[in-house]
Amino acid sequence: SKDSGRNSFRFFNSSISHNMLEHISLISGMRRGLQEQQFSLHYQPKIDLQSHRICGFEALLRWNHPEQGYISPATFIPLAESSGLIIQLGEWVINEACRQARAWIDEGMPDFSIAINISSIQFKRGNIDTLVFNALTRNQLPPQYLELELTESLLIEDSERLANTLANLRSEGVHFSIDDFGTGYSNLGYLKKFEVEALKIDQSFVRKMDNHSGDAAIVRAIIQMASSLGLKTIAEGVEDASTAALLRGLGCTYAQGYYWARPMPVADAKHFWLTWIKD
Ligand code: C2E
Ligand code: CA
Ligand code: CA
Ligand code: CA
Repeated sequence: SKDSGRNSFRFFNSSISHNMLEHISLISGMRRGLQEQQFSLHYQPKIDLQSHRICGFEALLRWNHPEQGYISPATFIPLAESSGLIIQLGEWVINEACRQARAWIDEGMPDFSIAINISSIQFKRGNIDTLVFNALTRNQLPPQYLELELTESLLIEDSERLANTLANLRSEGVHFSIDDFGTGYSNLGYLKKFEVEALKIDQSFVRKMDNHSGDAAIVRAIIQMASSLGLKTIAEGVEDASTAALLRGLGCTYAQGYYWARPMPVADAKHFWLTWIKD
């Protein structure tokens, strides 16, 4: 009826504005949070499946909101992207990861790299190559300590500016890997064009490898293709020993997941690392 139509419209309308208010308050909260040091990086170790060494860490952003506690990046990254705040947030991540890498070198930790996630929006809008070079220089950090995780959707874009930025970074020795590989596109030409170093096999395939033969077949195919192109593979979302063993058997290069460790605050990550080295 006319009436219920109006009511449902009103309901729809008010739930939208409720959502918008919440979004606006989160966005201004992020702005304040950046000034008040509410953001931090947590570190998840990456294991070399053949040598069983820790070869590096993925840095994952965390927001410790003063009232709401830890808010997931899955919630705030999209808002940071739509509001443009991802530029400042991403800049903070680059600087913080480089600062931490320098600190670990100075503390005498063995060889490692820190992988950071770069939003496509940040890559397209910001002068990311300059940001990265400045952060490396300021921290006297050799570029091989840093790795950028990019998404397929970014690399299939046919833009000269993007190609130049990637080439600049690559020629200075910064490595890239493709995050969430397998979930996006089938045109793989960009892999050769941009000198990608590694493919990160999406956890949606890895987590079901054990009992879904279809997913195991996809993982096997990705590893074979990567190795024939001279690329490394990183499996993410490894939660048990049998998946780790399967991946090792298939020749996957690196892996990360709750089976070894969750992303940890920096002190815990270092403690985990030192214990790992001792064992
Ligand atoms: P991602 O880059 O694909 O990161 C992997 C996610 O899987 C992380 O979630 C990680 O904590 C989680 N994970 C790792 N091992 C396991 C496992 O064994 N099992 C399960 N169930 N999950 C596992 P997180 O930290 O919540 O991050 C979510 C997403 O937010 C990331 O997905 C990434 O797209 C984005 N993100 C995180 N930090 C940053 C950042 O600094 N910048 C940007 N632009 N995006 C970020
Ligand atoms: Ca990632
Ligand atoms: Ca991923
Ligand atoms: Ca993801």
